[in-house]
Order: sequence, then structure tokens, then C-alpha cells
Amino acid sequence: MNVLVIGGAGYIGSHMVRLLQENGHLAIVLDNLSTGFADSVRGAKLYRGNLDDRQLVEQILKTHRIEAVMHYAACALVGESVVDPAKYYRNNVVATLSLLDTMRACDVRKLVFSSTCATYGIPTKVPIDETEKQDPVNPYGFTKLVIERALADYSAAYGFGYATLRYFNASGASPAGDIGEDHDPETHLIPLVLQVALGQRPHITVFGDDWPTPDGTCIRDYIHVDDLATAHLAALERLDLGSEIQLNLGTGVGNSVREVIDACREVTGHDIPEVIGSRRAGDPPELVADSRRAQCELAWTPKYTDIREIVRTAWKWHQSHPTGYPKEKASCV
Ligand code: UDP
Repeated sequence: MNVLVIGGAGYIGSHMVRLLQENGHLAIVLDNLSTGFADSVRGAKLYRGNLDDRQLVEQILKTHRIEAVMHYAACALVGESVVDPAKYYRNNVVATLSLLDTMRACDVRKLVFSSTCATYGIPTKVPIDETEKQDPVNPYGFTKLVIERALADYSAAYGFGYATLRYFNASGASPAGDIGEDHDPETHLIPLVLQVALGQRPHITVFGDDWPTPDGTCIRDYIHVDDLATAHLAALERLDLGSEIQLNLGTGVGNSVREVIDACREVTGHDIPEVIGSRRAGDPPELVADSRRAQCELAWTPKYTDIREIVRTAWKWHQSHPTGYPKEKASCV
């Protein structure tokens, strides 16, 4: 298939581009490089631009005879969405609706959409399956839910086929060690802990050890970025016009913050000092996926279920790229 990967220069998108190429698909990337890196796009044509640039998107869809779009170009920080909701509504909702309309105008009606477990808000039960009520508690989760609903309506009215994939905690890096996670500022647990191991930070702050969990720290479902990508590929290859695929993507295994830090100590051989801080606003105590539906519908099984194996791949990336990607931008169209 000829696939347009929007946000293909970002963390998850760049791993997706590689997997598409390995499976014989043509990947074309559109990214505004606001948080992505040209250097993470290997062997794919990269257009620099915004997803709501209708002229550019139309040109790409037509020039490359694009058959499906994968959309990773979202703002995705819960805290930031609370402080600056306008940015989230503009980018995640308004720009994405513009993309859908450009696709419709060009008769490209297949979309794989990155959604999030944040659309569930505070779950009534864990592990969380797809029947859980979607009731987001922050603007980020709400903006993703708006597009989920729009896709259902576009499917019914305009014959779109779509997959919305609700991620839990994306983590790890390509085992090749050449592409990985690079955010500025970094807010995610595993890269922060590994930066402590590299001596770039004095300690990791644990956001609360008084949660109602066995060791008092928050529990998350860390899913390897390559497992996310293989699930996306399976969804893409199953998409027909009219398909409505809505799935959770997690491993079903929960790890506490303390377990993650211990895994990082074991993998890196470094002490990794920790400091107990206060709870972070908006953090639910436990988010773990019931991803049986994805496993069944996509014939997909996550390969990485041991947090140490995930950390090992992230550590390889961080060790070989202690300051991330080169910060000067490589050339693009
Ligand atoms: N966390 C932490 N210290 C940090 C960053 C994160 O204790 O410096 C915790 C956070 O409270 C959450 C877990 O690590 O329970 C994962 O957080 P992250 O920001 O990586 O992902 P999120 O779950 O927010 O998507």
C-alpha cells in the first residue's frame, strides 16, 4: 500500500515508517518537525508541513496515490493540555478535521488514528477493556475522543474505514538502537530515569508513594513502540471502507514506578538515586489494558512483556544518543 504517515518523524511514527518499509509498503512522511526529527526518517520521502495545509496534503495524496493515512501528529501531554487547551483543540481537533476533509476531497478514506487510554478518564475497573465508558478528565483525552466520534460519523456518512488505537504507555526503542525517544522537555518516566543513569540528572522524582497500590507508586502498562507499530500494521492491512476498528493497545502487564526504576537499575548497572515527590495532578493510580480484543481481532501478540526487555532497548538508544537526535534539521521537501 501507499501510506501517508503524518507525524512520521516523531517517536511512534518513525518506528511505524520502518515497519511499513520492512513489510513492502511505501511510506511517505508529512511532519512539521515541531517535535519530530528529520534524522529519524530513514529511506522515506519527508515533506515538512502541517496536516491542515490542504493544498500540500492534497498534493501528497495525489502525487503518491496514497491509499491510507496514519495520523500520529498530535499534541500528547496531559499537563500541557490543561494549561494550554487552545493548542490541543486547534491541533488535535481542528487540524485533524481539516485532514479528514482533504482526504474526503481526494477520495482517500482509510485512516489509522492514534488514540489514547486517556479517553477513558478514571476507569471504573482495571484492566480496562473497550466497553469501559469514555469519560476523559483532561483536554488531551477529550480532543482524542472528539476525533473518535467524528470518525464514527464520517464512516457512517462518507464510507470512511478507520481504526482508532488507544495506547497505553508507549516505551522502548528500536532494538537496532538508531531510532528512539527524544522529547524536549522530557516528561516520560523511562527516558527520565535513563537520563539519571547517564548522569544527566541528579535523581528521579517519584510522583507519590502513597497511592492505593501494592508498593504505593502508580501502575502503568508499558507497551514497546515496536509492538504498537505491529498492531498498527495489522489494523492497516485489515481496513476496508466502512471498517470501524476500536482497540486498546497494551500488554496487559502493569508495572509500578518503583518496578520501572528497579528495572532501569538492573539493566544499566547504575544506582539511580530517587526522591519521593508529591503526586502529579491528573495521574490515575493504575492504568492497565485489557487488550484481548486487539490480540484476537488483529491476530497480534505483544512481543515485549518484561519491562526489563523494554528498558534494555531504550537504554541502547540513550547510550548511543545521549543528547538524542542531531538538533540541526536535515533537508526535506
Ligand atoms: N512519573 C514519575 N516521575 C516522573 C515522571 C513520571 O513518578 O518524573 C510517573 C507518573 O506519575 C506515572 C508514570 O510515571 O505514574 C508514567 O508517567 P509518564 O509521564 O511516563 O506517562 P503517563 O502515564 O503520564 O502517560
